[in-house]
Amino acid sequence: MQAALDELRQAFAGRLLVDEADKAPFLTDWRRKWTGQAVAVAQPDSAADVAAVVRWCAQHRIAVVPQGGNTGLSGGATPDTSGRTLVLSLTRLNKVRAIDTINNTLTVEAGVTLQQVQDAAREAGRLFPLSLAAEGTCTIGGNLANNAGGVQVLRYGNARELCLGLEAVTAQGELWDGLRGLRKDNTGYDLRDLFIGSEGTLGVITAAVLKLHPLPAAQVAAFVAVPDPAAALQLLQLAQSRLGAGLTAFELMSDTCIALVEKHVDSARLPLAERSPWYVLLEVSDNVDEAHASAAIEGLLEAALEQELATDAALSATLAQFQALWALREDISESQGAEGRTIKHDIALPISRIADFIATMGAEIERRWPGERLVVFGHLGDGNLHYNLSPAADRLGAEHRAAFEALEKPINQCVHDAVVAHGGSISAEHGLGVLRRDESARHKSAVELRLMQAVKAALDPHGLMNPGKLLPPNQEHSE
Ligand code: FAD
Repeated sequence: MQAALDELRQAFAGRLLVDEADKAPFLTDWRRKWTGQAVAVAQPDSAADVAAVVRWCAQHRIAVVPQGGNTGLSGGATPDTSGRTLVLSLTRLNKVRAIDTINNTLTVEAGVTLQQVQDAAREAGRLFPLSLAAEGTCTIGGNLANNAGGVQVLRYGNARELCLGLEAVTAQGELWDGLRGLRKDNTGYDLRDLFIGSEGTLGVITAAVLKLHPLPAAQVAAFVAVPDPAAALQLLQLAQSRLGAGLTAFELMSDTCIALVEKHVDSARLPLAERSPWYVLLEVSDNVDEAHASAAIEGLLEAALEQELATDAALSATLAQFQALWALREDISESQGAEGRTIKHDIALPISRIADFIATMGAEIERRWPGERLVVFGHLGDGNLHYNLSPAADRLGAEHRAAFEALEKPINQCVHDAVVAHGGSISAEHGLGVLRRDESARHKSAVELRLMQAVKAALDPHGLMNPGKLLPPNQEHSE
């Protein structure tokens, strides 16, 4: 192994990390929940070099863990502890290759950060609408590998719907050029859609053709107090019927979430005179101007107050206010993390069943685990909730840590069983990784698992691409 590693080191001078201290930042995930080992961390700067590294791994039967910004929340980018793994960091594949404002497409390499993609689109007078709180660090390759969602899926779709073509390196180290900027292409199995959402288990994404949209002329946000999730759902319907495609985000959060943000972020303030058990943050994008957007949102809020779907609302009048309202939503995740241990669920439900789920699940959690705090927020317009828990306020000390951690498995099972019973999914946008891998397998039919296993075996016959992620190890094909 050492001789083979020396050979790779020579070929990739300066782009292969083997010292423990150099490798360390790549071996632990963003939440510091998982840590692994790797023979090396490779940092290639071209698709051809990615292919060469993967070929070397295939030849020496070393597993490959693709890694972008390492902001994933399911442990998908962290190697296992076998020591037979190489981390393939894509962050040096950071070029914008082409922009076509007539085709409305942007071709970028996998390691370009989401924020850089948004900036490149904006410089060309276009919008790339994928947006999430980790956008300064996460990469477009990671977004596609996870089929990321974020806050504007309601209007523009998730990462899959924003990608027209891909370039990828197969498990054998061949380069597949599927960088087609076509909106229609019915020429057989859709390999692009197979790689998207496969979490690095089928191959390595090296570049993508992304779909651009017109830049809106104005955006206005409203922070709305609502009595309960059922009222929030009625408000969603009202907003959709009045605003149509102008409604670009519709987020729900409980008062517990906002209280956590106020506790942990100095500048955070509730923009309303009185507290409410639930709030909605909605955003309108307008192609006329700010006054037109404000008039539309004011009309909606008047109707909502009249119908008692809302009790109060604050509207953004400046960019600073718009950003401050959004910060209340985007800072929830970090504020919950600052509070101590968390138990997280990223669930999707039919929108019509969300209010019932929140009511029955909340009662069940309180009955079985009294005092533990529910921290519920999410992209209501997409039917996606982050249904999280934090320890009870009087059980935050280190002495309670193990007891809270022991609740993770039974609470996961309880929540996921109810999600499936409500016709939902246990992973909406964060992927399975190792965190939800076994829970997902528990709920999939034998047929579905067998089909997934067959795809894996066909594309990665030696089980070297990100093993142990997405599918349980015994569902993978190995030599
Ligand atoms: P990584 O974490 O590096 O990798 C994620 C997975 O993709 C791993 O399985 C990895 O092996 C694989 N992978 C990475 N790059 C490639 C590649 N080039 N080819 C093949 N496989 C690859 N996610 C959402 O969807 N919506 C949100 O609203 C959201 N909010 C977040 C907020 C915060 C504060 C944080 C920390 C995370 C959030 N996430 C969210 C999760 C995360 O940011 C996304 O999943 C993101 O898409 C991961 O990108 P990354 O480059 O960091 O990928």
